[in-house]
Parts: sequence; C-alpha cells; structure tokens
Amino acid sequence: MGAPADRAGRPSLVEQVEELLAAGGPLPLLEAGEPVLRQGTAPYDGELPPALLGRFVAALRLTMRAAPGVGLAAPQVGVAVRIAVIEDPAPVPEEVRVARGRVPQPFRVLVNPSYEGVGLERAAFFEGCLSVPGWQAVVSRPAAVRLTGQDEHGRALDEVVTGWPARIVQHETDHLDGVLYLDRADPRSFSSSRAMAERWNAPTPHAAARELGFRLPE
Ligand code: ZN
Repeated sequence: MGAPADRAGRPSLVEQVEELLAAGGPLPLLEAGEPVLRQGTAPYDGELPPALLGRFVAALRLTMRAAPGVGLAAPQVGVAVRIAVIEDPAPVPEEVRVARGRVPQPFRVLVNPSYEGVGLERAAFFEGCLSVPGWQAVVSRPAAVRLTGQDEHGRALDEVVTGWPARIVQHETDHLDGVLYLDRADPRSFSSSRAMAERWNAPTPHAAARELGFRLPE
C-alpha cells in the first residue's frame, strides 16, 4: 500500500523510492553537507510493498558495488529510512586480513539496526566513506559489537559481530543516526587518497600515528 503524501506535502516513502528507482542503474550518491546525511532516519515499518522493497535493496546493492564500497545506507541516496546494506569480498593480502580482521562479509540487508559495544577492546584503522570521497581517517571503534534489528524479511537479528564486519556495521548504522565517521575520527589522521596510496597502505596505522601525531588505543 502506498501512503499518500502527508499533510505537509512531503512525498511518502513509496513515492520517494519509486521516483528514485525510475531512472534505473546505480543511484546518485549524496556527499557530506547534504542535510539528509545529518538528520537521522525513521524506523522502517513495512511501508514498502515487498516487491518495491526488493527493488530498493537491489538498487542499494548495485550502487554499493558500482562505487565500489563495502556498505551503503539509505540516507546516502537521499532516503531517510533505517535501512542499510553491507558486503565485503575482502580482496586483501593475508597480512591485512590478519591485522584488520578483514574477512569476507556476504551481502546482507540491515533493517532497523542498532549496535552496542561488547567488551572493552577497541580497534583503530583508517576508514573512508562514499559520502566523503577522497579522504580517509583513523577511527577507534569497539572491536566487537552486538548487532540487533531485522533483515529484509522482518526476521530478527541478534548477534555479535567482530573484525572488519564490526566496523562496517557500526559505520552504516551510524549513518542511520546522522553520524559520519568524521565525527568519530582523529582529525590529525585525515589523509587524502593520494597520501593513503603513497604512505599509509600498511596493515595498521602505527606509522601514520607516529608521523602525523595522533594516538592509537592501547
Ligand atoms: Zn559512509
């Protein structure tokens, strides 16, 4: 069922998604400075007919893969609803896999996700965002989180996620709360894509911390 536009004239979620999907292909990505990236999202409450939700999820997946990225949240395509997708084939060298816990993450849909840290261990690594192109920065995050929410079929999620997938889950869930990784990053670690490629491609950010002058968690 499609709800009509509300009294303020704002398009319903159905109208908004149908318009977004009309053009076909990867969706345009919004970049930092767009209010929708900062204003949080409404819980998803089954507003989309199953076929339209399926098409929206497929478009998010296509857009994420085309970018390419390892996660994408609905506000990044201008839709303020609590839905994100993640997927990481993790084509990285063994030493990077070991240092960062970057193991393959199959495609999945997070509906109404939330997370909370599990334990005291933290992990700090360079991180980037499709909505902040050209830059990366080091973000210290809980190494393990408890992820709750639903999948795209409404089935409950409640699991502990570790390694790089834990970082992806936190980054994408943060998007749904209007939080960008910049908010959690150490500003002294900000590095351009060029600096990343030329200097900071080591498995860990220890050399960057030393030379740029920022602290890593113990
Ligand atoms: Zn992002």
